[in-house]
Amino acid sequence: MSAGRPEPRDELRALEGYHSPQVDVDVRLNTNESPYPPPDGFVTRWLDALRGVDWNRYPDRAAGDLRTALGGFLGQLPERLLCGNGSNEILQTLLLTYGGAGRQALIFEPTYALHAQIARATGTEIVIAERDGRYLIDLDEATAAIRRARPALVFVCTPNNPTGTVEPRETVERLTAAAADTGTVVVVDEAYGEFAPWTALDLVADDLPLAVVRTYSKVWSLAGLRLGFAVAPSWMVAELEKVLLPYNLSVSTQLAGTVALDFAPEMEHRVAALVEERGRLFAALANTPGIDVCPSGANFLMFSVSGDAHELWKRLLDRDVLVRDFSSWPRIEGCLRVTVGTPGENDAFLAALREVLPEVVT
Ligand code: PMP
Repeated sequence: MSAGRPEPRDELRALEGYHSPQVDVDVRLNTNESPYPPPDGFVTRWLDALRGVDWNRYPDRAAGDLRTALGGFLGQLPERLLCGNGSNEILQTLLLTYGGAGRQALIFEPTYALHAQIARATGTEIVIAERDGRYLIDLDEATAAIRRARPALVFVCTPNNPTGTVEPRETVERLTAAAADTGTVVVVDEAYGEFAPWTALDLVADDLPLAVVRTYSKVWSLAGLRLGFAVAPSWMVAELEKVLLPYNLSVSTQLAGTVALDFAPEMEHRVAALVEERGRLFAALANTPGIDVCPSGANFLMFSVSGDAHELWKRLLDRDVLVRDFSSWPRIEGCLRVTVGTPGENDAFLAALREVLPEVVT
């Protein structure tokens, strides 16, 4: 007799998986990727490098060349770097190492859904603290929560996804100081750090429990490759390495990550252009009646609609423009998020918005 279908772990019952529709449209502004492909020169150099690979051999487990090159680029020692398949794998490794049964992770909602999602998947209990009316972390409440809950980890996303909010440097400094007293790891998720006015990378120090997480998925135009990394004290990297699967990073990913760094000036150009476009898009949205747009330090803008936001999302989609629908999310009801695209894509979004907005505004 059959015992029935095997059941996943109890704590996974509430998991819903990650929902961001992948629809084939002309103007795709829903997942905060770069609108530009990697430079041609990068592709040529990478493919050339791949021809010399011993494919029958496992890759360098320590990703030594990549860590040395990336460390040189960031002004950090290779021992302070941990590389993974997208920054999501790095976040998962942090939670597998420091979270787990009987441990807690503090997150500030609304924020990147995967922090809570991966915490649940690793059996880590979630403690939620609320952001203030501008979606910033309330420092007094946050430090009090750290002292009270003594969580194993605290997640600070800056710029925050989906709101775009940039935390002041003082917030990260003071949270890290509080965390040092309670044995808490502070994870600063800087997936959009290159678009922001400051970075926590230079706060990483041997005597602080701070990990800054970054990705090649946005600025570096390599979302399809899956490469992310953490900059953390070497003792933390050594702990994280024990948990990471051996040979996690393919030869091709390691080579791509190294070769990409030679194109840094071109990428910096792109960041400047996207930041300028963000300003143009912000001004246009701020001048649109019925729309309230949040200031953003990222490559996207979140805005609320006084009317039926989900209907607006659908009508934009009817016009081949896909943005991200947060209209039914707790704390940001009535909000949509648009990724900064090429000037042409942004114009197409604004034109479609102007057309359909009167139909949904109340
Ligand atoms: N952190 C944040 C805040 C993100 O928005 C994303 C991508 N949506 C990630 C991490 C993960 O990016 P990746 O795994 O592609 O590096």
